[in-house]
Amino acid sequence: MPPVKYQSGDMVMGRWPGSSLYYEVKVLGYDARSQLYTVIYKDGTELELKEQDIMSAAGFQARSRSRSRSRSRSPVLSPSQETKAAENSSINRHEKKEENNTASKVTEKSEAKVQAEPEKNQGRYNLRRRKDDGDAKPAEAKPEEKEAIMAAAPVATLSTPLDFGGKIGAFFWLLFLPAWVLFLILQVSLEDPSLANFPPPLPPLVAFWDTQAFGFVILWILFQALLYILPFGKLSEGMPLKTGERLKYRTNGFFAIVVSAVAVAAAVHQGVDLTYIHSHFLQLATASFLISILLSIYLYVRSRNAPPEQLALGGNSGNVIYDFFKGHELNPRIKGFDLKFFCEMRPGLIGWCLINFAMALAEMKQQGLDAPSPAMIIVNLFQLIYVVDGLWNEEAILTTMDFMHDGFGFMLAFGDLVWVPFTYTMQTYYLVNHPNPLSVPALTVIIILKLVGFYIFRKSNSEKNAFRRNPSDPKLSHLKTIHTATGRNLLVSGWWGVVRHPNYLGDLIMALAWSLPCGFSHLLPWYYMIYFIILLVHRDSRDMSECRRKYGSAWDEYCRTVCYRIIPCVY
Ligand code: NDP
Repeated sequence: MPPVKYQSGDMVMGRWPGSSLYYEVKVLGYDARSQLYTVIYKDGTELELKEQDIMSAAGFQARSRSRSRSRSRSPVLSPSQETKAAENSSINRHEKKEENNTASKVTEKSEAKVQAEPEKNQGRYNLRRRKDDGDAKPAEAKPEEKEAIMAAAPVATLSTPLDFGGKIGAFFWLLFLPAWVLFLILQVSLEDPSLANFPPPLPPLVAFWDTQAFGFVILWILFQALLYILPFGKLSEGMPLKTGERLKYRTNGFFAIVVSAVAVAAAVHQGVDLTYIHSHFLQLATASFLISILLSIYLYVRSRNAPPEQLALGGNSGNVIYDFFKGHELNPRIKGFDLKFFCEMRPGLIGWCLINFAMALAEMKQQGLDAPSPAMIIVNLFQLIYVVDGLWNEEAILTTMDFMHDGFGFMLAFGDLVWVPFTYTMQTYYLVNHPNPLSVPALTVIIILKLVGFYIFRKSNSEKNAFRRNPSDPKLSHLKTIHTATGRNLLVSGWWGVVRHPNYLGDLIMALAWSLPCGFSHLLPWYYMIYFIILLVHRDSRDMSECRRKYGSAWDEYCRTVCYRIIPCVY
C-alpha cells in the first residue's frame, strides 16, 4: 500500500472539484479503500479529494509563481476566456460526477455553476451559484489578482442559494415581519378585528415602551436561562457536525415547564395579576422585539469571526442585511450555553403557554366568568399539549432543519422570541373579547381532529428522529430505505413513505383544530392556519432543495417513489 502523503490536521491546498482553483483546506482523514482524503474548506464544506487534487502549501506557492511568470509571457487565454473555461469544465465535471456517482459529498447539480469572484474589499474568493447573483455580471479578477489572492491562502466561501427572495427579500422581511406582528396586535384588540381591515392608526411612540414590561421580559428570559443551566435532565447529543464532533445539549425542557408552571401558580396565589400580560401585550412584544434585535446584532458580529467549521452553509452572501437576517453560525455558544437551542425551546415556547394562561384569566375577568369558556380551555389545552410534547421530546429538535442547516440570526431569534409567543397566542387573545360558544358535536369533532393530527405529527417525527439517531435500531428494521452516497439513508416506507413531510401534515391538522374553536366570524384567529400553510409549503421547498443538494440522485429516486409532499394525493 502506498504511504499516506498527507496526515489528519495538515493544512494543504485542495482543488475545488471541476475547476482549476485551489483553496486552503484541512485534512480530516484518509480512506485507504477509496484512496480519498476527506478535507474541510474554510467555510466548513467537507469534500473527499484524490491525492492528485491536493498540494502542499509550499508546492502550491512555487507553482503559482511559475504559472504567473509563464502567463505574463504568453497568455493562452484571456481572463474572461479562462473564467469561462473554468466554469465549463466545472459544469462538465459536475455532470460527470453526478453520472458516475463519485466520491464528492457535495453533489452539486449541473446548473450549479461554480465560479470565482473576488469579494469586494475583502480579498476573499466567494464561490457561489451564478443564478444567485441575479443579473449582475460578476466582477472578474485579473489573472495576476487571482494568483495573488490564491497564493495568499484564500478563504473559500460557499453559499447555498439565497432564500427568502435573496437580498431584497431579506430587507423586505426584516421590515415586514415586525410590522405584521404590530398589525396583528393592534387588530386583535379591536372590537371588529379583521385581516382585511386597513391597519388602525399607530399608537403614539410612548405607548410602545414600558420599563416594567421590559424588566419582566428580561426576568423571564433569565429565569428560563437559569432553569436551562441547572444540571437536571438528560444530556443529549446533537447530530455530528462537519468536524465529526457532536455537541451536547441539556434537554431538560420538560423540567423547565413544570418548574415554570409551579412558579406561575405560586405567583398567582400570591396575588400577582397575570392579566397584566393582556393589558400590556404591545409593550411586552416591543421589549421582546428589542431583545431579539440586540441578540441578532450580537449573533451577526460573532459569526464573522466564528471558526469555519461552525458555520452554516447559508448566510454568507456578503450582504449585511441578508446575512444578518439569515444567520451564519450554526450553534453559537457562550461557554457551553447554546443560544439557539435555548431560544428555540425555552423563553418563547414556554412563554406562549404563559400568555395563553393569562388570556384565560383575562377572559374570566372581562366576561365576568367563573371559569374560562370551553373554546378558551381547549385552545389553551391543545397548545399546551403541543409545547409540552415538544419539550418532552426536546431531543428531536436536534434532527430538524433549524438545527442541522440554519444559522442563528434574526430570522430564528425574532421567530423564537417574538413571533411564536406574540402571534401564536392570537387565538386565545381573540377569545378574550370574542366569545364563541361550541356545541358538543363541534367540540367532539375538534378534539378528534387534534388527536389525529397529534398522532401523525408525533409518530412521524419520532420515527425520523429514531432513524437518524440509530439507523440500525431493530425497531425500525421493517422500514425500507434508499441508500445515499453520503451514508445517511432515506426512509422510504412507514410515515416517510406516505408523503415527504408527514410531520407537516400532522402539524397542519392540529393548526386547524386550534382555529376552529374561534369560529368563523373573523379571519384573524385563522391567521395561524394561513400563515402555517405558507410557512410549511415554503419550508418544504427549502428542504427539498437542501436534500437534493445533499443526496443528489438518491433524493430524486425518493421523490419518484414518494410522489406527494405533504397531503396524500393532493399536494
Ligand atoms: P423535518 O423534521 O421534516 O426535517 C427535514 C429533514 O429530515 C431533511 O432535511 C432530512 O435531513 C430529513 N429527512 C427528510 N426526508 C427524510 C427521509 N425520507 N428519511 C430520513 N430523513 C429524512 O423538518 P422541520 O425541521 O421543518 O420540522 C420539524 C417539525 O417541526 C415538524 O413537525 C414541523 O411541522 C414542526 N415545525 C413547527 C413550526 C411551528 O412554528 N409550529 C415551525 C417549523 C417546523 P437529513 O437527511 O439531513 O437528516
